[in-house]
Amino acid sequence: IPVTGFDGARVGVLGLGRSGLTAARALQAGGAVPVCWDDNPAARAAAEAEGFTCADPGRAGAIDGLAALIVSPGIPHLYPAPNPVVAAALAAGVPVDNDIGLFFRSLATRDWDRYDTAPRVVAVTGSNGKSTTAALIHHLLAAAGRPAQLAGNIGRGVLDIDPPGDGAVVVLELSSYQTELARALTPDVGVFTNLSPDHLDRHGGIGGYFAAKRRLFAEGGPDRAVIGVDEDAGRFLAGQLAEAPSDDRVIRVSSGQKLGGPGWSVFARKGFLSEYRKGRQVGSIDLRDITGLPGAHNHQNACAAYAAVRALGLAPRAIEAGLRSFGGLPHRSQVFATAGGVTYVNDSKATNVDSAARALASFPRIRWICGGLEKEGGLAALAGATGAVVRAYVIGREAAAFAMQLDVESEVCTTMAAAVARAIEDAGPGETVLLAPAAASFDQYDSFEKRGEDFMAEVRRRLAG
Ligand code: ADP
Repeated sequence: IPVTGFDGARVGVLGLGRSGLTAARALQAGGAVPVCWDDNPAARAAAEAEGFTCADPGRAGAIDGLAALIVSPGIPHLYPAPNPVVAAALAAGVPVDNDIGLFFRSLATRDWDRYDTAPRVVAVTGSNGKSTTAALIHHLLAAAGRPAQLAGNIGRGVLDIDPPGDGAVVVLELSSYQTELARALTPDVGVFTNLSPDHLDRHGGIGGYFAAKRRLFAEGGPDRAVIGVDEDAGRFLAGQLAEAPSDDRVIRVSSGQKLGGPGWSVFARKGFLSEYRKGRQVGSIDLRDITGLPGAHNHQNACAAYAAVRALGLAPRAIEAGLRSFGGLPHRSQVFATAGGVTYVNDSKATNVDSAARALASFPRIRWICGGLEKEGGLAALAGATGAVVRAYVIGREAAAFAMQLDVESEVCTTMAAAVARAIEDAGPGETVLLAPAAASFDQYDSFEKRGEDFMAEVRRRLAG
């Protein structure tokens, strides 16, 4: 999508990863002159090979005259320490934005003259369940025959998508790093899944983290807000956004609570999804045999996705068919093998305590592989969530320190190979070997995907051998 509005002006692009490079291309396509920078020489070389100019923004006068500075989500800009280039730009009055802000400015979704046919944007944020919910929304739309694209933190870069045609929907997954800096956030439907401590170092604490996510729902934000109300932050946000109890700008979503009342709500209880509007039930789906969405947390995701596509006009029957054909995402509660009555589940994406707790609540008798780079806040919140754990097999460079904090029987394995070997040795029929690390992967892996793949490869190797 070409970014217009910067005709001939110089626009700084800081950080030349996927989103930075796409931003540079989109700016150039729209007539701006991108001036790029990345501290990594290899990234600069790649940009230069594409014909972009690179210039060190740290040198005197470099910021002057920039029409905007586009910052990659991977660059910490305020916490744990202010980024000097971002700070200089802000001090000089240069607007600081990111690819998400450019996307919303460029895609004229708010063209009121063409409102009935203009493309729609759904944006999903929250601590856990974003990818699953965004992918599910995309799947439900596609299954119902509505043209849809998935972008942002999942799928393609936002400025990399094909220009959406009339009636098409763009589904975005947005992290707090992305919502924090975007100067425009105007989706038609905004989805907030939940809030639990994560990435606190980047946001200066839980307050900053919540504030970054709430920007998606600020004044002038979405026409419709789908809000998970199973914890305090979500309840607060939903209450704040609603003008009155009957206000159907907000669709409240829960897994476990019976909602209803005068407003609009979607909730899952005892395996059934229900939709209520103005005190009346208008939809119901049996979720119990939907295999792609196991566990109460996935029922929350199903409710949020259902609500989002209802807001876009899909009928309950079409949504039900789409839910049934959803295959789930890799590395999220992914059941990838069964042997000798033991089920093997890869939830490598459980990188924080809350997501791991959800996985632990989804299976009986668990041989739990956990550990890695611990997140700020510690593991205390796991207490009470480990009832189904028979034994923990702890990986990671600091496996011993991690194991000491657990309230279950555990052993220090350090490597994935050792943990898998021990878990398979111990596991009996009816048990689940679950990777749900409750930690980031970066002490031993490049990404949670690599960790999940290593886990699955080790399991398959041992089962075959
Ligand atoms: P995100 O994109 O927000 O990280 P994912 O869909 O990738 O979310 O899921 C991340 C992790 O959180 C996975 O381990 C998954 O099993 C777990 N999870 C998924 N949905 C939820 C939810 N609604 N609440 C809590 N945990 C969830």
